[in-house]
Parts: sequence; structure tokens; C-alpha cells
Amino acid sequence: MTTYPKVILKKGKEEALLRFHPWIFSGAIEKISGSYKEGDIAEVFAASGRYLATAYLLSGSIAAKVISFTQQEIDKAFWKSKLLEAYQLRERLGLVSSDKTNAYRLVHNEGDSMPGLIIDIYGGLAVIQAHSVGMYELRNVFAEILQEIYGEKLKAVFDKSSESLKKMTGFKVEDEFLFGSMPESEILENGNRFMVNAVSGQKTGFFLDQRDNRFLLAKYAKGRKVLNMFGYTGGFSVYAANAGATEVCTVDSSAPAIELCKANVKLNKIPAKNHKGVVADARQFLDQTEDGQYDLIILDPPAYAKNMDARKKALGGYRSINAAAFRKIKKGGLLFTFSCSQVVDRQMFTSAVTAAAVDAGRKVRVLHQLAQPADHPINLFHQEGEYLKGLVLSVE
Ligand code: SAH
Repeated sequence: MTTYPKVILKKGKEEALLRFHPWIFSGAIEKISGSYKEGDIAEVFAASGRYLATAYLLSGSIAAKVISFTQQEIDKAFWKSKLLEAYQLRERLGLVSSDKTNAYRLVHNEGDSMPGLIIDIYGGLAVIQAHSVGMYELRNVFAEILQEIYGEKLKAVFDKSSESLKKMTGFKVEDEFLFGSMPESEILENGNRFMVNAVSGQKTGFFLDQRDNRFLLAKYAKGRKVLNMFGYTGGFSVYAANAGATEVCTVDSSAPAIELCKANVKLNKIPAKNHKGVVADARQFLDQTEDGQYDLIILDPPAYAKNMDARKKALGGYRSINAAAFRKIKKGGLLFTFSCSQVVDRQMFTSAVTAAAVDAGRKVRVLHQLAQPADHPINLFHQEGEYLKGLVLSVE
């Protein structure tokens, strides 16, 4: 059995761990014994000497994140059992062998008891994104295990940690293929086809977290004139057009995203006259659009608040962009509005949207409350994992 560095907590600071919350704050730590560096595995003990958890070390106010609440050797077999557990959940969700969907999140941070790790599956391509040094150092182990789990089906594993790691830790690394080489993958999502470019795209290449919400949108898109704001590569747009929307306009500030969006429209054999892709700032686009133009608008902005300090400003941002969108909707139209800011909770978001409806002078009813899908699970002991919130609103 390996001897791990020991994290000894201050007296009384074990409460959160006894409730299985996976974070250990630096202020709770009395001392760390043994030699260690960021990313190393350590065992965590209460002041009484009782074993509490095994965690990897971080620098910063969160000093460690838990990977196990049982004392055990942390080796390849340990990680394989964790990845298999994640895989089996996706199997039970019907995502692994569906003939309509072949892209899903295999590992979602604390939701899969692997804080700081994301693995997305795009058909034969797996994309790893580490948000911590501890997880980054294991990337080759994960790549090996993925090959063992998926066998022939897996053609390539791409590590895309450079951006997330730099943001979270300041570490500079290069993105790279750990196995095979497949920068682009064509995926199926509820029967809709998309090209995903893991290398040049945002995040791991595609926003898988909107899959269920896109499916719901398809139900309402027929015969409607649709505006997809912050549309990226056309996720919502392709669903809408395939479901019979009369006209779809996709707006995004990223030129490469709109280019890929247009390619996705083509890939789905949607007549070119039914879709328009516009590279523009969302706010400016809305300001230049006549009121009451659209039957259905989707508003899916990037996270306006990345931390608590930015929250107030973010709420103002949600209010003003939603008010602008309300004004562009026809009487009886629909607004699909989202927030993916983790620090803005559902109630705050709903309040901002309510203020926006007042600003725009529209009567609004809530038809659906939306969230992240089941392959982005929330660990009940770490409810901070809930980040995606959405409302479907009927606008009079
Ligand atoms: N709805 C998309 C995901 C949106 S992610 C999907 O289903 O795939 C947020 C998007 O907002 C990104 O594509 C980003 O390029 C775009 N974006 C960021 N700031 C913007 C702005 N000011 N105006 C327009 N688009 C913006």
C-alpha cells in the first residue's frame, strides 16, 4: 500500500466531509505531513486521527478535492472502476447504444465523483478536459482505460486541457492527441447531424448539455420563424429547421462557429433559403431588429458571471438581453432563455427574467423549467454542480 501525504484537519472541520461534500478548504487544514506538490494524492484525517477521505491536492482556497471516501490504493484499477461506473450510468440512460444519439458526456466532474475532470464522447472521438493538475497528470491513464472500455469503437482520444488548466491553475500545457488523430467527428443527436471540431471548437467542441432542451424545442418549432441567439454551431437551429421551422436565423459573435453552423445546415440537407447565419454581437443584432419579428427566440448566452463578485453585473446583463429579446417576439410567441452561470441560481435567474418582462411590458407565462441533462448529473452532496437553468416562456 502506498503511503500518501496526510492532510490533518483542524478540530471540528470534518463536518462537510462527513456529509460527503468533496471539497476541502485551506482554512480547514491544520497541517499536511510528508512531501507533496500540487496534484498529488493525499489522505485526509480528522484531528482525532479518523480517516475521512482520499483527495488530490490543489493550490488555492480549495486545497483538495475528494476522489474517494474509502481508504484504498489509488491505482489504475481504481480509476478504471470509476470510469466504468460513469459508463454504466450512460448505458442505463440509453446513451451508449442509441441509434439516434452517439455523443454524450461520460464524466462530469463531482457529478461522477471525479472533480476537475470532463470526458465527452463524440462518436469515435473522446475529448478529455482536465480542470486540475491532479486530473491532468492522469490523462494517459484515462486514455488507456477509455480504449479498454470502448475497444475498436474508439478511434482517438484528444486532451483539450490547455485552456481550462491555464484558467484554473495557471499551468501552461499543449492540447494533444493521446491516441489516434481525429480532429473532426460527425455526430448524431436525436437524429440530427453535426460536425464537431474538438481541436478548434469552444470547450470540448459541442454543447452537449443542451441536448434535451433542443429536443423540446423541436416540438415547438414547426411552422415558426426562429431566432437562435448565441447559436454557436447551430445546435438549436438544426433541430428547429429539421422539425419544420419556416425560417431560422443563427447569430453568434464567432465567425468560425457560424461557418460550422452553415456546414451543419448543409449536412442536414436543410434548404439554404430556410437558414441565415449572422456573425454579430447579440445585443447589437437585437437592437437593429424590428420589434415583434419572431415566433420563437432562443437565448443561450455564455456564463455572464464566472464568480460571486461578478454576479450583480451578470444579473443586469441577463435582464437587459432578455428584455431586448422579449421585444422581438410576436404576440403568442415563445422564448427559450438560459443561464449557464453556476453562481446565478434558478431563483435569481427567474427574477432577472421577470424584471426583463416588466421592462419590455410583456405578459409572460412559464411553460417549462429546463435544466442540464442526465449525463451531466448533480452529486446530491455537491449541489454547486447545478449550473444550467432554462425557462420556456409564452409571451403575450
Ligand atoms: N446555444 C449554443 C451554445 C452557446 S455557447 C449551442 O446549443 O450549441 C455561447 C455562445 O455565445 C458561443 O458560441 C459564443 O461564441 C457566443 N457569444 C459570446 N459572446 C457573444 C456576443 N456578445 N454576441 C453573440 N454571441 C456571443
